[in-house]
Amino acid sequence: MVRFFLASALAVLPALSLQAEVRSVRLVRQGAGLSGGRLEAGVTVRADGLHAERNAAYVSPPLDAGLAFSAIGPHWKAAPGAEIEIAVSADGLTWGRWIPAPSEETIDSLREDGTSRLFGGDALGPLVFVSPDSRWVRYRVRLPTRADGEPSLSRIVFHLIDPGEDEAEGPPAIDGTARDARETREPDRSEAPAPRRARAPAPEEPEPVSAAPRPSILSRSAWGARAPKYAYSYTRAGHVGIHHTASVDDFAAPTRAECAGRLRAIQAFHMDTNGWNDIGYAWVVCRHGDVFQGREDDDDTTDVQGAHDGFNRGSTGLALLGYFHPPYDQRPTEEQLSALVDLIAWISGLRGIDPAGRSLYEAFGAEVDNVYGHREVKETSCPGDHLFARKELLRAAALEKLLVGAL
Ligand SMILES: [Zn+2]
Ligand SMILES: [Zn+2]
Repeated sequence: MVRFFLASALAVLPALSLQAEVRSVRLVRQGAGLSGGRLEAGVTVRADGLHAERNAAYVSPPLDAGLAFSAIGPHWKAAPGAEIEIAVSADGLTWGRWIPAPSEETIDSLREDGTSRLFGGDALGPLVFVSPDSRWVRYRVRLPTRADGEPSLSRIVFHLIDPGEDEAEGPPAIDGTARDARETREPDRSEAPAPRRARAPAPEEPEPVSAAPRPSILSRSAWGARAPKYAYSYTRAGHVGIHHTASVDDFAAPTRAECAGRLRAIQAFHMDTNGWNDIGYAWVVCRHGDVFQGREDDDDTTDVQGAHDGFNRGSTGLALLGYFHPPYDQRPTEEQLSALVDLIAWISGLRGIDPAGRSLYEAFGAEVDNVYGHREVKETSCPGDHLFARKELLRAAALEKLLVGAL
């Protein structure tokens, strides 16, 4: 594989986010610790949590995180149907609006290495991005009654993340020169040496359908990724899963530097709340159409096994940064969709995948479209209605790109 080291490119990207320091803190409220705040009539606090005798609301007291944060990853243990909203404040006095945090899925009870998780089974909310001067959080819960005598809410946890600042002005906005710079493949100086490979013997490799060009990809060091916790496992992708990050963009990221911060926060959420080895997705595309290298290395002949759809073996996961589903209803940008098509076409060409076809996804145990939405293999709204609606167009566009590449 060719690596480019262009002096001009280094001049364009002088300040990779190597200095960005991710800090985070966890606020845990459980059992009798769920007291304080405002309880509607019918809600009582007991040793095991909040009990609702009828459908009622509870508003917590303000909670001081002790550090400024710009992302909140909530999870909780509650009666099915509990509705959580969160609000933030810089000073504990003036509060932003209530932000709904719908549960996306539950936290796996085991880590990827098979050890058990403290918070396994908790309902997992979306990662919510807020103004970076936030320091206080509070929450409001609509508590359903519970017939089995169990508490309506026994625990709520907030993983509050400060993804750190990029140096100086941060990476430049995207223009022609910066685009060239993205062609460079910077070695990951910020990371531990590449983990030793635990590579499975490769099955016979199908001939590529054709070749589509490798898209420009921002390396892990360019967004300040942490090293994975342990050695990657490898697989060979015969399917490509499409996701949205389901991160709530309350405070929109206008620059590449801020998109890099989003990636660091998502990685911290995946590693420290989900308990995963690394960020779950192989690649992430922001709304500017920039492609960030996620859980992947620079060896294009194999696929790092991700944590993206609950099966993971035999597939690779691509995510678009955003929340393309109610209640947030963001829409993928044209730049984002076009970069996604480029990625799908490139991977399909490398792996001999027909992006418009359908085949057995062995780990899932059934046939599924070769390029599928997460919801086709798991109970989830991912990749969101507004991205899923574009799936057939994406598949057709990727195939066309491959066929054109074959001419
Ligand atoms: Zn997904
Ligand atoms: Zn961006």
